[in-house]
Amino acid sequence: MISVDETLRIVEANRWQGGCESVPLASSVGRILAEDIVASQPSPPFDNSAMDGYAVNPAGSGPWRLSGEVMAGTAPATGLQSGCAVRIFTGAMLPSGTAAVLPQENAAVDSDSLVATVEARPGAFIREAGEEYPADFHLARAGQIVNPPMLSSLAAAGYAALPVTRMPSVAILSTGSELLSPGSPPEPAKIFESNSATLVALLQQMGCVVVHEQVEDDLTKTSTAIRRLLESCDLLLTIGGASVGDYDFVRQVMLAEGFKQLVGRIAVRPGRPTCFGIKGDKAWFGLPGNPMSALVMFSVFVRAYLGHAPNFQMRRLAEGYQEEDGRERFIPARHVEAGLELLPTVGSHATFSLPRADGLARLPEGAVKLNVGDAVQFIALPWSPA
Ligand code: AMP
Ligand code: MG
Repeated sequence: MISVDETLRIVEANRWQGGCESVPLASSVGRILAEDIVASQPSPPFDNSAMDGYAVNPAGSGPWRLSGEVMAGTAPATGLQSGCAVRIFTGAMLPSGTAAVLPQENAAVDSDSLVATVEARPGAFIREAGEEYPADFHLARAGQIVNPPMLSSLAAAGYAALPVTRMPSVAILSTGSELLSPGSPPEPAKIFESNSATLVALLQQMGCVVVHEQVEDDLTKTSTAIRRLLESCDLLLTIGGASVGDYDFVRQVMLAEGFKQLVGRIAVRPGRPTCFGIKGDKAWFGLPGNPMSALVMFSVFVRAYLGHAPNFQMRRLAEGYQEEDGRERFIPARHVEAGLELLPTVGSHATFSLPRADGLARLPEGAVKLNVGDAVQFIALPWSPA
């Protein structure tokens, strides 16, 4: 058995190397930037007006001689001479020589003469070129995950597509003779297959193409399914069947397929029977069948393999916690006013607390006695706002 940290080190050392592909802005949320994004021009790109009103030269109260107008989207035909003003609109390019913008609510116009009812201070209501950022500014760094507001800021910088890491095609194989597909009628001694739904959704959010299949606990059928899926996927996630039961065939099939098992069991709860192996540029995670274990192991290790390394942060507990002994633990948790609240589960088969959780508290191995206010590690879950 190896530790969580050692497993993360092994997984990250072998992590997915997809190369780079260009995807349209609107499809890039959740993807990992493969290159730094640099601004080709300053923002704003030119001096412009923050108000509907008048560009004036000089600042002050006037009077100015008013002539002409500048619309947004049209470059001014001439500069502004001293003693002159021009009608201007929000976002319109300022003529050279503009000392201030006088908002129209502070202006009095009498034919071609303009005076200020409230003085226009130098620089007032001028958005200066480059005041947000200069040309060559790093707008985003390689490795960052694209989020929705980035689309607007990168569109404003002229980007229609982004260079992102190409993500793997993933096959998920749920194993177990007890599994029924959701939607089919209940049968005695059977349960509905419930792991793949969340995993498919999370993988698709990351930009993976995903297929899912189900197989009974039968060596030949398991072996046939795995061999076929490996022909077309980059990453295989098997669910269940990797423990020590008489009908757990996944591990032996993967070894027979030539995979090198780099992680066999992890000193963690839940999720001990998790495995990780590689063969050439293909990778395999054997996730435990218990839904809580599968989802926790996926969130920590599979995401790390895909370039979404866990970002452990410290949080203060809203309640005490005590454990006599045992392996390192991940416990669903959520933020409340007093700190981090742990959400108990009845066991690793039960996922009921997860939809309410912001993330996972990571608690150390061995005897643990923590009080209210003690700091623990916390990892946000992919759907968490934290
Ligand atoms: P296993 O890892 O195959 O020993 O399975 C451990 C437990 O998880 C058993 O109670 C299985 O019935 C359950 N299980 C395995 N796979 C799934 C699945 N895809 N969906 C829901 N439960 C599962
Ligand atoms: Mg099983």
